[in-house]
Amino acid sequence: MRVLLVAPPGAGKGTQGALIATHFGIPHIATGDLLRDHVARRTELGRAVQDRLSRGELVPDEVVLDMVRAAFIDAKARGGGYVLDGMPRNMAQARALYEIGLGLEMTANVALHLQADDEELTRRLLARAALEGRSDDTEEVIRRRLALYHEVTFPIVEWYASRGILVSVDAVRPVERVARQILTALEAMRSLVDHVPESARRPIDLTGLGTAFGRSDR
Ligand code: AMP
Repeated sequence: MRVLLVAPPGAGKGTQGALIATHFGIPHIATGDLLRDHVARRTELGRAVQDRLSRGELVPDEVVLDMVRAAFIDAKARGGGYVLDGMPRNMAQARALYEIGLGLEMTANVALHLQADDEELTRRLLARAALEGRSDDTEEVIRRRLALYHEVTFPIVEWYASRGILVSVDAVRPVERVARQILTALEAMRSLVDHVPESARRPIDLTGLGTAFGRSDR
């Protein structure tokens, strides 16, 4: 499986990404984690990007594209599957990522869109701030990250819909319910994705199927 996660901050990308990776035995490539690791190790790259991370701004496209290209080459050697979490964040990254995928014969099979409203996301991010103390989880930075998502990241959802690889789920439910729905959908698609040409695919909207996957537990 080759999966991209497209979601606003706080929607559970990291958690769901890790669960998908474990389920399918594929690498979980999280650009935010890779960048935070550079910052923690005080590498040259880490020192160059740390202010942007703290302010909730995007780092330059070339930085993340280089990181992801290297991670894809590594993933290819390990079987070719991946869950990419945190990228693409804008249309330019989406197109560049597609080119990298074409070059390595690793374009995504599924763009998984986790939907959640801003109020719920802010609540979750503030709760995470209390637990993890991330420098970008203050109220002001959260507002900026959500605005950035709506402005520059969300438009790529439409692009994935038009390419027929979009799968949308409602992420405002307990983690395990969201995970069950995602894994059920991905399992059902697993044997098909390599055989159905992109031109014949259609977006899949699972957000209305909440009851089947426990909406009442919200
Ligand atoms: P995340 O953990 O995905 O919320 O990412 C944390 C921060 O890392 C973001 O607010 C950005 O500063 C940076 N970042 C992560 N992924 C990207 C990306 N694809 N493009 C630019 N900046 C990114």
